[in-house]
Amino acid sequence: MTADDVKCVGVVGAGQMGCGITQVAASTGWDVLLFDVDEAPLQAAVNKIRDGLQRAVEKGTIDPAQLEAALARLRTIRRLQDLAEAQLVIEAAPEDRSLKSELFQQLGLCCKPDTILASNTSSISITQLGAASGRPDRVVGIHFMNPVPVMRLVEVVRGMQTSEDTIAFALAIAKRMGKTPVLRKDTPGFIVNRILIPMINEAVFLLQEGQESPAAIDLAMTSGANHPIGPLALADRIGLDTVLAICEVLHQDLDDPKFRPCPLLRKYVEAGWLGRKTGRGFYVHGDPAGQEARG
Ligand code: NAD
Repeated sequence: MTADDVKCVGVVGAGQMGCGITQVAASTGWDVLLFDVDEAPLQAAVNKIRDGLQRAVEKGTIDPAQLEAALARLRTIRRLQDLAEAQLVIEAAPEDRSLKSELFQQLGLCCKPDTILASNTSSISITQLGAASGRPDRVVGIHFMNPVPVMRLVEVVRGMQTSEDTIAFALAIAKRMGKTPVLRKDTPGFIVNRILIPMINEAVFLLQEGQESPAAIDLAMTSGANHPIGPLALADRIGLDTVLAICEVLHQDLDDPKFRPCPLLRKYVEAGWLGRKTGRGFYVHGDPAGQEARG
């Protein structure tokens, strides 16, 4: 399988990353089958993708005809077996090791033998997902950054049994999608999240100490360390459930107490305050002031 053979891409999970990956894949000219276990995210996804393409029209990067053509290439599906048409499947389901292992086992059974299975996981072992799939040579990490249409970097992750052909394929796919791939071996959190998540976690520890507000912590990092967005605002964008899940993988797989998740982070997730996707995290979203959450 080479990138030239790809006509149809399957995307598993219609959340924020699945939507972004679908938008870019459809704009690249591939048919896209977008799968989710629920109907509601699929319906929301079509609107989100249309809005994303509309923004691209307004910026002048595509014209209205390209918007319509990209939308016409998109089909939503509820049966995993319908992914049999795809030459490449990119999984973007929640950051949960057992859920993803189960999915890769099912994908290994329902996709054609030469289909490449990629995971957009932020931290979980590609080697483990490869083993679950029964085709570990054709499993690779293709880790996009959020928001997918905007961010250039993609981490291509080599599992222990990933073949050279699959790595070459993933690098070529990332380039066709307009991304800059970096190749990384299969270590927890790869490069970006190995560095980013401990920083966010440390910001939550500071918040837990109770002397600074979220806005003060974020301002310190935007104006003091020249970061474009503060760590707590970024956590709200990523999703606090995802931040916690990545932190747990780092803690468990690197077996180092320095990665232990902050108890306050856990409490926010238990409360259902997951950030932008639920309207509240360290900030309240959906109101023009974007004010800090209290309590
Ligand atoms: P999300 O919560 O926005 O979306 C997850 C989607 O998966 C939901 O639509 C949900 O209905 C669906 N889902 C649940 N169970 C499923 C199953 N068994 N099969 C298929 N779909 C299922 O999450 P997200 O932020 O899009 O993250 C998805 C993946 O991308 C995670 O592995 C995450 O670590 C990774 N990632 C996230 C970011 C980020 O900034 N959020 C960045 C890079 C990578």
